[in-house]
Amino acid sequence: MSLLSNKDDLKELVEKLNFKEKVERSKELLRESYAKYGDFLVVANSLGKDSVAVWDLAKRVNPKIRGFIVTTRYKPPQTVRFMNDVVSRYPELKVYKNDDPIGERLYENEPDKCCDILKVIPVKQAIQEMHVKCWVTGLRCTEGRTRTDFKEVEERDKGLIKLNPILIWKEREVWQYLALYQVPVNPLYAEGYRSLGCAPCTKITNDDNERAGRWIGTSKCGGECGIHTRPLKTNVAGDGI
Ligand code: SF4
Repeated sequence: MSLLSNKDDLKELVEKLNFKEKVERSKELLRESYAKYGDFLVVANSLGKDSVAVWDLAKRVNPKIRGFIVTTRYKPPQTVRFMNDVVSRYPELKVYKNDDPIGERLYENEPDKCCDILKVIPVKQAIQEMHVKCWVTGLRCTEGRTRTDFKEVEERDKGLIKLNPILIWKEREVWQYLALYQVPVNPLYAEGYRSLGCAPCTKITNDDNERAGRWIGTSKCGGECGIHTRPLKTNVAGDGI
C-alpha cells in the first residue's frame, strides 16, 4: 500500500520506529510524492534544522526537486548569511520577501498581522508563482503544543497537498541526521537557540518545549506564524482562486 494514504498511528510510530526506519519512511514519502507530483512538488525551506534536514532528504530522492525560502526584514544577520550561502549552493531555491511598508514594531503590537504580512503572503505568492501542487515542510509533531495534530499527508487547502515527511522525528533524531550526513546548519544553534525565527521574536530558553523561545511576551508565545494554520491557496490579496 502507498505510504501517501497511510492511516498509521503516528504517536505510536514516534516511539516505535528507530532512526534508520524513520529516515527510510521519510524518503519513501518523498519518493512517492515526487513520482506523483513531479516538478509541482516544492520544498518550503525555513533554514531551520528541520528544513535543512528535509531539503537534504529531498535532494537525495531527486536532485532536481525545487524549493523556496521566505525571509523577512527582521531575520538575524547570521540567518541572512546562512541563507545566502545555501542559495549559492542550491540556486533552485527561490527566495520570497515582502518589502511593503508596515507599522513600526508591528511585531510587538500585532504579531499575527506582522506574520501575515511578512510570512504568510510571501508563502502564498511562492505557491502561486511556482505552480505548487504539493508543498513539503519540516513540521514535527513533537515540536510543541501547536504541532501535535498534523498528518504526514494533508489537504487543508483544497487542491494543495502538504507533505510533512519528518513529522514523527524527535529533535534528537534531526540532529543525528544532520551530524551523520554533515549537513551545514545555521550558526545560531551553536549559541543555544532551539527554534529560529525573526530576531525580535526569538529568544534562547531552557524550557522543555522546543518552540518556547518564539514570541515570548505575546499571545503567540510558543505558537505559529500562520503558514501552517492559515489558508494558502488564495491569491495574495486573500481572495480564493
Ligand atoms: S516572527 Fe515576528 S518579526 Fe517575524 S514576521 Fe512574525 S511577528 Fe513579524
